[in-house]
Order: sequence, then C-alpha cells, then structure tokens
Amino acid sequence: MIRITDKAKCCGCTACMNICPVQCIVMRRDREGFDYPVANPDLCISCGKCEDVCPMSHTADADGPLMTLAARVPEFMEGSSSGGVFPALASKVTGEGGVVYGAVMNPDLTVSHADACDAQSVERMRGSKYVQSELYASFEDVKYELSEGRKVMFTGTPCQIAGLKSYIGNDEPDLLLVDCACHGVPGPGLWEKYVKALSEKYGMQINDIRFRVKDRSWRKYDFVVCGDGRSVATPHQKDPYMLLFLQDMTLRPSCYQCPFRKGGSGSDLTLADLWNVSEAAPEMDDDRGVSLILVNTERGRRSISGLPVKEIDQVLALKRNGAFAQNPQVPQRREEFFLGLHSAKNLIGYMKGFVVRTPLHKKVYRSARTMLSKIKRRIVK
Ligand SMILES: Cc1cc2nc3c(=O)[nH]c(=O)nc-3n(C[C@H](O)[C@H](O)[C@H](O)COP(=O)(O)OP(=O)(O)OC[C@H]3O[C@@H](n4cnc5c(N)ncnc54)[C@H](O)[C@@H]3O)c2cc1C
Repeated sequence: MIRITDKAKCCGCTACMNICPVQCIVMRRDREGFDYPVANPDLCISCGKCEDVCPMSHTADADGPLMTLAARVPEFMEGSSSGGVFPALASKVTGEGGVVYGAVMNPDLTVSHADACDAQSVERMRGSKYVQSELYASFEDVKYELSEGRKVMFTGTPCQIAGLKSYIGNDEPDLLLVDCACHGVPGPGLWEKYVKALSEKYGMQINDIRFRVKDRSWRKYDFVVCGDGRSVATPHQKDPYMLLFLQDMTLRPSCYQCPFRKGGSGSDLTLADLWNVSEAAPEMDDDRGVSLILVNTERGRRSISGLPVKEIDQVLALKRNGAFAQNPQVPQRREEFFLGLHSAKNLIGYMKGFVVRTPLHKKVYRSARTMLSKIKRRIVK
C-alpha cells in the first residue's frame, strides 16, 4: 500500500491512484497546497500495483536527444508561450482524428488536464500555466482511447509523462508523449489563494488569467488578469506569484530532487523556450518567441515532419536553460514561507516579503515599475 513518508519522493503524477484495482487511493491536498495519494487501508487488497507503478522509483538515464531544433510557427505564435510548436503538433493529431491531452484553465481558474479532438478545444491548452495541473482520471482515459484504436498526444510536465508511461506499461505506437523543460511547479492550493487575493485587490470577478502574454515582449512577458470587461497587465518581474515561482520558493518538494530532468521522462519530444536564441539561431530572434525542440525518439522525429524547424547546436541551445539539467536549490526561507502562509492577513504583501531582491532584481524592479505605470494608463476598458 502506498504511504508517502518523504514528500520529496512523490511527484503527484496519479499513476498509483489510476492503477489501483479497487479504487482505494484518492489525492488529498496537504498544508503546502500540493496533492498526494492517500490509500484507504480498509479497502486495500495489498496487490502492490501502486508501489510498482510509481515512476519515482524506477528512473533511467536518457541517451540524449537525437536532434536539437529551433522552431517558430507563424500562425500559432500569438497565444502560445514560446514558438507555437504545441498547437502545430496538436492540429496535426486532431486533423488525423486523434485526441490531444493538455493543461487548461477552467472557468473557476483551477488548472487541470483535459482532452481535445478539434482545434477549438486545443485553444484552451495553449500557453504555460505555472501551477501543477490536476490530472484526475486522464491516464485511464488515455488507455481507453488507445484501446479504441485512436492516436493520442499527451502533453505535460516530465513527471506527468513519466507517470503516464509507467501506467501504460508497454510501448504504444499510437501514443506521442510531449513534455516541457520544466523547472518546477507551484501547487494548486497556493494558486487558489492567490487568485482570491487578486480578485480582492482588483475588485474584479476574474474570468481568465494568462501567465505569459508576450504582446510587448517574449522575454519581458506580462502576467494578465481579466474580468468585468477589463484586463490588467503586470510585468512578470513585478508579480509576487511569478517571482516566487521563478525564485524556486513555491515549488513542490519533489521538484528539488526531480529524477526526470535531462530527458529522463521518456518523452518523444521536449518543448522549451530557446532562451539563448541570440547565439543559437540569431536570425530567428525578434522577441516574439522561439521554441526549442529536443527530439528524443524516432516517433518524435516523425511527428514534427512538415514543421518549420532548423537544426541547431545542442550546447548553445541549452546554455540559458539550466532547469533542463539541474535541480533548483531549496531556498533557505521555503519552510518559513509555507508555515506562515495560512495566517497571513494580506497574502500579496506576505508573498512580496519573501521575494529575494538582488542588485539585478532591483534594477529590473525599477524598470518594471516605470513600465507598470505606463501599463496602468493603458488598462483596457
Ligand atoms: C510548469 C511549467 C514550467 C516550465 N518551465 C520551463 C523552463 O524552465 N524552461 C523552458 O524553456 N520552458 C519551460 N516551460 C515550457 C514553456 O513554457 C512552453 O510551455 C513550451 O515551450 C511550449 O510552448 P509552445 O509555444 O510550443 O506552446 P504553448 O501553446 O505555450 O503550449 C502550452 C503547452 O504546455 C502545456 N502546459 C501548460 N501548462 C501546463 C501545466 N501546468 N502542466 C502541464 N502542462 C502544461 C499544455 O498542455 C501545452 O502542451 C515550462 C512549462 C510549464 C507548463
């Protein structure tokens, strides 16, 4: 029976919950706002399947990508975080009658995985949402779709991909696995609290939040809150949720010891931002977003046929993408942050108090403040 004693050893992928033959495992939220499996001992039949399926306990080193590519797909640039490779792949899959799984922002602003069979449903999956997506029964659904002979593309964080792969068990030729070069995820509990605090701050019934709006700049993207017929854009370097995420304060405990970095998830493709585009593919750099694609398998190579890609040097490509290979350090004040979170009267002020301000941050902060005052003037009515 699965029992989580060391939280750093559970990535919350739900493989154990999905495989349990007597459905005795549920995901339960802890005080830090992350979901963990809890088994009911009265129902458990001690079959051991939940322990065997856990991807954290059997990881393998990857051989390294077959190809490293830069890509931007003009018709999908707007609305996607990097170069729009995800929607381009998704449209190929749905065009062939397949199903795409990805993370969506729900009307109640929670983030979860959903399926899509047409371009319109794929729209909701576009753009990075920096919160751990709730998977519910997605793995079981994928297995069902495959058994019905349908092609499936599943996208998610490396731990979600590793969990699904372990749950499915055998190599399925009709399953395309696509992960992102993830540096870590904050939990849904903190996100829900933050949404509530933003709603109070702006006096707004929020109906959408976009983490990475790059109208102004891909590098200096905005965090945008929409509701009541208006939207408020904040440079991400000024938003405490984004800052604490980027400074690794709010990540899931397992993200600091993630065994799925460096392609260890077993995905066919890995998508990322090509942050070092100025050196790796300077002719593509117009600050509107460029994707980095790591092609990990032959299936991955076949899936990108027809996409506008350019082969680039792997070392240059990964130079400003440390998260792909390296685990973040646990920040000194992480425990303190989560201990005080529930009693904080002013959540946004409390979060700001944990942002680390280096001289560089101060400089970025000053320019962000100037930018903010300009943006405030252009709040769309
Ligand atoms: C939590 C997270 C951390 C990331 N960290 C890095 C990083 O450190 N460095 C880097 O270069 N790139 C990172 N990325 C990847 C990058 O932000 C883009 O998602 C990726 O390059 C694909 O962009 P796109 O333009 O092709 O498509 P987009 O349209 O932006 O595609 C969005 C894709 O991301 C998936 N997705 C969105 N939110 C989530 C979520 N919460 N959980 C699971 N899947 C999700 C969707 O299902 C879809 O497949 C991260 C993404 C996420 C979600």
